[in-house]
Amino acid sequence: MSAQKLLLLPGDGIGPEVMAEVKRLIAWMNDRKLGRFELEEGLVGGSSYDASGTAVTEETMAKAHAADAVLFGAVGGPKWDGVPYDVRPEAALLRLRKDLGLFANLRPAICYPALADASSLKRDLVDGLDIMIVRELTGGVYFGEPKTIVDLGNGQKRAIDTQVYDTYEIERIARVAFELARKRRNKVTSMEKRNVMKSGVLWHEVVTAVHAREFADVALEHQLADAGGMQLVRRPKQFDVIVTDNLFGDMLSDVAAMLTGSLGMLPSASLGEVDAKTGKRKALYEPVHGSAPDIAGKGIANPIAMLASFGMALRYSFGMGREADLVDQAIAGALAKGLRTADIVAAGEKAVSTSEMGDAVIAEFSRLAG
Ligand code: NAD
Repeated sequence: MSAQKLLLLPGDGIGPEVMAEVKRLIAWMNDRKLGRFELEEGLVGGSSYDASGTAVTEETMAKAHAADAVLFGAVGGPKWDGVPYDVRPEAALLRLRKDLGLFANLRPAICYPALADASSLKRDLVDGLDIMIVRELTGGVYFGEPKTIVDLGNGQKRAIDTQVYDTYEIERIARVAFELARKRRNKVTSMEKRNVMKSGVLWHEVVTAVHAREFADVALEHQLADAGGMQLVRRPKQFDVIVTDNLFGDMLSDVAAMLTGSLGMLPSASLGEVDAKTGKRKALYEPVHGSAPDIAGKGIANPIAMLASFGMALRYSFGMGREADLVDQAIAGALAKGLRTADIVAAGEKAVSTSEMGDAVIAEFSRLAG
């Protein structure tokens, strides 16, 4: 097995605390020859700004380009609220996404049976939920030009954002969704607003064409994004893979997040184009949560989102599907044993620390791996 090059960017706040648990799991896997991971580490976000005046250095960017995958913790915090806009901590993440061409954001929403009561929906609606939201990440209204606020000179201003999608952008995100569906329950739901938006008309047309041409074996349905949002909270288990644009994906994935209980549980992956020569793709894996300054330094953060993000790296960058399954099963096992960090503990019950949860997941992983 050739070595897998991983760049770890723990970042700020609880980022380094949750990354520490992933490092322990990686060390364990390396020791047992369950992987051959070569680790590099770098500063990112506020910690990079403090060290070098920028949210991510050119040296770290070069390491990110050279790595097989990047594992990112979280950035930001009140300490850096006043720094100039272009070197603010979040700028690092945007630069990484842009320079690595990470156009596909994958956000699974999984509800572990042990946590079904922590959801804002009734247990029977979410117990066993396993859906994947595929959000287009580098186009649409967040990037389209013109994007400006114009002074109309009559005491009024006009704000303009531009929703823009080209055929190739829709084709490539649709392919990611269909390919994922083939490895899951073989169903894709595409969401847009073709009733009121031209970009929705093109989205619908292109997804339909890609499906007919390349993925006729996968079930495809279309929903208007507003109706889809309603269905997500009404009957979430009807979905397998949802594919949608940048703006709708931003909102729908946050809605889906709440179905599963806590921000501390949710991993994500951002993938680039497959390189025709090497067959590899650039990828960055990160928890959905931020740097949680309110609990940083206390050793109580939930490391599950970060551990599950590493699990996604095993699956989508390293072709280690079995080990990825083991990570997911180890997390489910630790939860089934009753371990809960403060964010998911029931009132009156005892919460475990970040490292105790890490210990439990690694112990389960070790037991399952035999
Ligand atoms: P947050 O996700 O950091 O925290 C929201 C709430 O969830 C907090 O109460 C926090 O304690 C809790 N929480 C989050 N992760 C947790 C975990 N693993 N275990 C237990 N509890 C957890 O969002 P926020 O408070 O809006 O933002 C804080 C900082 O993080 C800001 O500077 C923001 O810009 C930044 N941020 C960064 C990213 C990123 O790096 N990708 C994402 C979101 C926010």
